[in-house]
Parts: sequence; C-alpha cells; structure tokens
Amino acid sequence: MTPPRPPHGSHLHHAGCGCAAGGGLSRRRLLLGGAAAGATLALAGCAQNPATGRSSFTGFSDIGDDVRLGAQEYPKLLEEFGGPYQDSRLQGYADAILRKLVPFTEFPDLPWQVTVANTPIVNAFALPGGKITITRGLLAMASSEAELAGVVAHEVGHVTARHSAERQGAGLLAQLGVLVLGAATGSSELANLAGYGAQAYIKGYSRDQEMEADLLGVRYMSAAGYDPEAMATFLQTLGDQARLEARMAGRDPGDVDAYNIMATHPRSVDRVRQAMQLAEAARPPAPVVAREPYLNEISGMLFGDDPEQGLILDRGRRFVHPQLRIAFDAPDGFRLVNGKSRVTAQHPSGAAAVVDLARGRTPDEALARWAGRAAAGRAEALALNGLPAATVPVRLDSRSGPVRGQAVVAPAPAAGTVVRFLFIAPAGQFGRYDEAFRRMTYSFRHLSAAEASAVQPLRLIVTRVEAADTIRDLSARMPYGAFNDDWFRLLNDLAVTDGLQAGELVKIVTQ
Ligand SMILES: [Zn+2]
Repeated sequence: MTPPRPPHGSHLHHAGCGCAAGGGLSRRRLLLGGAAAGATLALAGCAQNPATGRSSFTGFSDIGDDVRLGAQEYPKLLEEFGGPYQDSRLQGYADAILRKLVPFTEFPDLPWQVTVANTPIVNAFALPGGKITITRGLLAMASSEAELAGVVAHEVGHVTARHSAERQGAGLLAQLGVLVLGAATGSSELANLAGYGAQAYIKGYSRDQEMEADLLGVRYMSAAGYDPEAMATFLQTLGDQARLEARMAGRDPGDVDAYNIMATHPRSVDRVRQAMQLAEAARPPAPVVAREPYLNEISGMLFGDDPEQGLILDRGRRFVHPQLRIAFDAPDGFRLVNGKSRVTAQHPSGAAAVVDLARGRTPDEALARWAGRAAAGRAEALALNGLPAATVPVRLDSRSGPVRGQAVVAPAPAAGTVVRFLFIAPAGQFGRYDEAFRRMTYSFRHLSAAEASAVQPLRLIVTRVEAADTIRDLSARMPYGAFNDDWFRLLNDLAVTDGLQAGELVKIVTQ
C-alpha cells in the first residue's frame, strides 16, 4: 500500500462472438480438449488461430480487441501486484528475453511487453494482446535465464492461444461472485474500492490450456535457442516452493496458496515433459542455459515484502507499514494481500476488508465524504488504541441485492492523512463476520519510530562458494530459522543429499 491515487473504473465489456483470422498450423496436435473441439464445431466457418489451429470462441472479434483489452487492464493488474519493480536494468533484462522469443511466435507484431512486478508473490500473468507480468518473487526462484525464458514463453503461449481473452472474456467482475457492485451504489468511490482487486486476475487456467501454453512455450524457447529442459526443472522448483511455503504456514503440503503460480497455472512436471514431446520442437544445437549471467542479474534484488509498500508478517496475519507507521491484524480465516494502493483481507466466503489511505483533516470529515449516500445510519466515534476514529454502516448494491458494509476511518500518523477500512460480506452474511471485523478494527495502531526503523528489507544475494563454506554456515544468514536449510536448498536446486562445490554461485536471503 502506498499513498492514495484517484480510483479507477473497472468495467469490462465483451463483444459478441467472433474469430481470429489466420491460417492453421498443426491443428491436429493442438486440439487437446473436447471443449475446444466442440467450440470449433459450434463456430463452423470461423477462421483459426494460427498458434493453436483452433477457432476462437473468446467472444472477441479479432486480435485488435485483445490488444485494446490488454492495454486497458495492464496498468490495473500491475497496480494490484505492487507496480513495476524499480530496477531498469532488471526490467531491460526481462524485456530482452521476451524479444528473443517473440520473432518465433505467430503474432510477432503484437505490442509485446513484459514487466517485473514488485511483489513477493510467485507468479506470472498474461493479459490479452501480449502484456506479460512476472513477479520478482518468481525471479528469485529461477536459477538460469533458460528457466525464466521458459516461464515467459509459457505466458507468451497463453497470449498466442488467446487463453487470457477466453478467461477475461468470462468477466473479471463476475469472478468476484456476489460482491459485484452496480452503478447505483451511493458512493462510486466505495464501489470502486470494493469491486476490484487482485483476486480478479488469479483465476486459474484449465489443464488443457496449460498443456497448450507449455507446448507453444517449448516451441518458442527452443526456436530462440534456450534449453527446453529448463521448463521442467523450474516447474519442479516452483512446486517445491509451494510445498515449503505450505509447510511453513502449517498447512497441508498440497494446499497451494491461491496466489501462487502452481494454483493459477495447474501443471505437473510429467505434463510439461509430455508437452515437450508433443511439441516436436528441434532441440537447439547448443542449448542456452545461462545460469551465472542470470544469477548476476538478480543479485541484490529485494526479497519478500518491500517495506515501502508495507509488509505482511506473522504468516499473512499482520500488516505493518514502517514508512506510514501503521499496523493492523487480519481476523482468523482471512488472508492479507498487499496491493499497491490498498491492502485487502480476504475470506474464502467473499467477506473482505479493504484498507487504503486517503487525505482527510479528521476521521469524521473523511468518513462523511467517503461514505456519501451509501451511509445507512448514524456515524459513531470509536477509540482505537487511543486514536480517535469514526465509523458508519453502509449499504452497497450488488447483483444479488443490497449488501451491508461498515466503513471505518482512523487517523494516520502523517498530518492530513487517514486510513480507511471498508468491511463487506456477501448478502445476508455480515452478521457472521461482525465480530471478526470488529477485532480487525480494534487491532489498528500507530508504530513508534523505533518499531518502524526495526523493519528492514530482505535481499537476495548471490555469492561464490569458498572451499571452507558449508550449507549450514551460508544458510545461517537467512531469516527462516528451522527452515533455513530447506530454503537454501530450494533457492539453489540442491537435493537433501547434495553438498556445495567450491567456486559455484549460490543465492542467499539476508538483510
Ligand atoms: Zn499457464
């Protein structure tokens, strides 16, 4: 969360059905699913997508619509995932990898773009029309340029197969379930706040779409000279990372975080290997892996949360912002997600708290202005850890009828700034979360200068192993206690029985 900006509109429209133009390539091999085959029949007479050989059933009339939709959504997606990571050299490096792949795609002239997003979440996203996002959390897990190229090529495959268009065409807002707020909402600002969030982008692809993206990705990366084997090795690392995170959070190892790439891109190493065979891509004569150049590029990169945006601590339960000097806790069963302009606490049921910053002289004044005509009762004063706050119930429109919410405004330490909480739940369910929302409200506090300065960012450092170094010594600099060894081995592709070799480069995480 960073200081406030004007809210943005978020409504997608999708046009009637149409098809991509272009000739078919290897259609036989790429018709992977019954659904795709059925769609081809239903739209007999439509032209085929040259990447998949499949008729489009995206609901968009041509690739130009993809380009417009992608351009419109890209800034919003980046905003939800921390904005671009401020390192022009690293951004340029990611772009150079994309540029090597693009000439080998069926759509080399799309306005292709890749951005490294400033979030510790491990994932990659493709929007229609060639707009790709890779997170710095994902960059930290890769160990070679070929591994990163494999992810970018896979996302490029989603773009050329027009999977994102199929997915987004289904309606970003519809994915938010019952909390779809209509234009009739009393406060448009409240509606904007509630109706849009990172979760709109994390809906998973189907397994058939994943297979198709892998197949295309293997072709693109092989044609660009990269070792396609890297796609399988990196997927293994990503799976191990998801399992380690689950173990550290006390969850079942198979319980993958909804924001992780393993949840949104459901793949297995076996399926990737199958795709490698199906792709029948010629293996490059001297396949590029580029391990050391890659590690040198990412050395020094932020790891975990960026203190400038606030940190999520305590297994996703506590939000601390050392620069704004505020902290609050999420209730049981809620999960905190830190966007660039707001933090949300989300419950699987759809109940959520949305927290952001705004200008305001006093909480009373800011609350009255914010709630506007959505206010559904009298504002009351609250004292939150000694801070004077104000709250009012609000009524918001949703597709399933009016939804009860509660708005709370508390002062931020910086003069003229307030912190706003909007608590919402699916229709008829607010009472079930009332107590949880209350606890979250009363957990809000200001940090002392000492507490704030104690919060230091972690960085990923690449170092060369000396003869006397041991895994225990090197991993002792990391912040994961009992999990230091696991994290060190995960970051460096070392099996439990593997030792270190003098002279090799290794990643460590340290302050
Ligand atoms: Zn995918």
